[in-house]
Amino acid sequence: MVTIDNFDFSGKKAIIRVDFNVPLNDKFEITDDTRMVKAVPTIKKVLEGGGSAIIMSHLGRPKGEAKPEFSLKHISGHLADLLGLEIKFADDCIGASAVEAAAALQAGEVLLLENLRYYNEETEGDKDFAGKLAALADCYINDAFGTAHRAHASTAIIADFFASDAKMFGDIVNSELSSLDAVLASPKRPLTAIMGGAKVSSKITIIKNMLDKVDNLIIGGAMKFTFIKAHGGQIGGSLVEDDYLELALEIEKEAKEKGVNLIMANDVVIADKFAADATTKVCPIDAIPEGWLGLDAGPESVERFKKVILESGTILWNGPVGVFEMEAFAGGSKAVAEAIGEATAKGAFSLIGGGDSVACINQFGMADQVSYISTAGGALLESLEGKVLPGVAAIRG
Ligand code: AMP
Repeated sequence: MVTIDNFDFSGKKAIIRVDFNVPLNDKFEITDDTRMVKAVPTIKKVLEGGGSAIIMSHLGRPKGEAKPEFSLKHISGHLADLLGLEIKFADDCIGASAVEAAAALQAGEVLLLENLRYYNEETEGDKDFAGKLAALADCYINDAFGTAHRAHASTAIIADFFASDAKMFGDIVNSELSSLDAVLASPKRPLTAIMGGAKVSSKITIIKNMLDKVDNLIIGGAMKFTFIKAHGGQIGGSLVEDDYLELALEIEKEAKEKGVNLIMANDVVIADKFAADATTKVCPIDAIPEGWLGLDAGPESVERFKKVILESGTILWNGPVGVFEMEAFAGGSKAVAEAIGEATAKGAFSLIGGGDSVACINQFGMADQVSYISTAGGALLESLEGKVLPGVAAIRG
């Protein structure tokens, strides 16, 4: 398979789908440029290989209209700074201005196209629209893993217009895919998944898929209360999903049948209100008094979690085990993060993904102590659910 590292870009125009959907403030200044910074290596590889780069992205949700507040012009200056180059800008992503600017592009130059989502054809995966984008370039690179779960014109359909030796992934997509493979395809055993967060309902498909793969499954966060209530435990005012009690029992049964070691909290930090200054105490997970609610894993549970994590060869962490946003209830998630850091230092592979565990690891300043942090959101979750992503299939075949 052709890759960005073995492809000869010399004299070629590469159209690169990036994710420059960065947050802007009311003065249209970028408040977090992480996504742009991460895309730089791929763009540089094209330029250093003697090619030119045509950059395309969406920004916000203009819903098929050319709304100036969503113009990629707002970010072109910062892209120029990051690359140390002048950026050419086409005020449309297709049509005469794009065609002329692409035709005039010389080796080593970068052209930024206007917002793809000024056209509904982008999100509709329109073939003609994808063909017009493809016609601007000689080869196609997808470096937008965050939108790889969408069969949009620029993320998937466009790939049909390029031969298999003229389409490839960029560095971001390659890193995301190889870290997912390290967990899902060829994990070093034992493989432990730590599933936390607020709701069983939002994680159920992932949990089901992971039951076929993991050796250990730690259930933390508010979702454990649905399991505890299903067994008749007293959970006080803790968050619970009554429609999922049956399903919780099914998951337990399936875990048993599949030989998965299911690790559930046995004690909990409870609070008399959902507030940073609440009165707190520790109690057994199934004996929470009325008027109290469980907001973090208790000390015994934390010890259980740590033991399993430290013995793991591969670790996937999706969702905090408590309300980490409040200091009083961040202890469980911090201990989990520290154990993952320690296991990683001893040689385990650790993948942190899903919005809140990423926020969590960043809050604790531990981002450099894990193997890989995925910022992909939906695309990561769908991969963990076992789905094939259209943007990946379009290139991998
Ligand atoms: P999710 O987006 O499903 O991963 O959920 C993350 C959210 O779950 C975070 O905002 C946490 O504060 C919240 N959370 C974790 N544990 C609990 C709990 N015991 N009670 C209420 N919310 C929780």
